Amino acid sequence: MEEIVILGSTGSIGQSAAAVLRSSPGKFAVAGLAAGTAGSALFAQIEEFAPRAVSVRDEAQKAILDDWLSAASRVGVDTMCGVSGLERLAVMPRNGRVLNALAGGVGTFPSLAAVKSGMTLLLANKEALVTAGALIMAEAARNSARVLPIDSEHSAIFQCLTGENRTDVSKIILTASGGPLLNMPAGKITPEIVLAHPVWRMGAKVTVDSATMVNKGLEIIEAMWLFGMALDRIGVVIHPECIIHSMVEYVDGTTKAVMSSPDMRLPVSYALNYPERVPGECGRLDFSMISSLSFQEFDPGKYPCFQLVMDAARGGGLLPAIVSTADEVAVDAFLSGRILFDDIPSVIEHALEWGRTEGAGNIEVTPESIGEYMRATRKIVPCQ
Ligand code: MG
Repeated sequence: MEEIVILGSTGSIGQSAAAVLRSSPGKFAVAGLAAGTAGSALFAQIEEFAPRAVSVRDEAQKAILDDWLSAASRVGVDTMCGVSGLERLAVMPRNGRVLNALAGGVGTFPSLAAVKSGMTLLLANKEALVTAGALIMAEAARNSARVLPIDSEHSAIFQCLTGENRTDVSKIILTASGGPLLNMPAGKITPEIVLAHPVWRMGAKVTVDSATMVNKGLEIIEAMWLFGMALDRIGVVIHPECIIHSMVEYVDGTTKAVMSSPDMRLPVSYALNYPERVPGECGRLDFSMISSLSFQEFDPGKYPCFQLVMDAARGGGLLPAIVSTADEVAVDAFLSGRILFDDIPSVIEHALEWGRTEGAGNIEVTPESIGEYMRATRKIVPCQ
């Protein structure tokens, strides 16, 4: 059996991964699980998958986990916490796969650890490539580690590229649902409105990022690193039905698209089983029931946050890490009612300007510089 570690096992993607593993029993052994909180969702996964090691957010959560393990007479489970716990789990599976479904910049260091030790990294955490794409892809190449995308758009692009020569690609087209605010009349935008995504059930951070289109900016950077594609050859089109998950246009004028019902179990299953496809329980497309697929031009002018992310991408160096960290802080502040939705762009802009005055576009991206600037960004943003 191949071993797998799931980082972020109780979140939306982590739960999809658990469902996929459940549907093919005997194929994978779960060596490790990581979750923020030691609660009932994690305990149920420990009961079901019997991992050798479990990591949680901090010492307080680890104490709760240890108590539960001893009360449940589960001996021999190695417990750990924090970033070091994630890094230890990421190098644990024997010749195996590490599924990184963490939310936010915390996913960066375990991703790096996984590729450095030659693991196959199944990546749902886009912030890792936004923050440290150059490092992660270079270490992956040096250590013959594979990076397989789970983000639905990137899974689609990966599938479109399979069997093709990269030199024949003319452009990548990312589809965007338009997010929860696409057809919303003007008015106060509350966390409740933003969290009601019309198609995807996802974690809070990525759902808010879909509304601001930060998510699509981060995904462009993610595609740039994953597929070695220049920024100006990656476009976006709004496609509210979320049936086409992204497209690749080739030099001869052919465009390939990947279509399926919007169900994250599909990209999870594809990455888990790659290069095989295995039968699954996901709904099939019934083209007699789909009356139309619609597309709208994506207007960056409507999305100041998207433009700021792209400015950071063009600036390079540590600017994407700074902008991504600032967005994380701003999303937290919005969800907890400390700032308004319309304040999010100014928080990101403040951090980007600060990064420019620091010359962060020209600072070498190393694990140390990333850590330093992620911490510094949290201090200078105006909404702690
Ligand atoms: Mg996506």
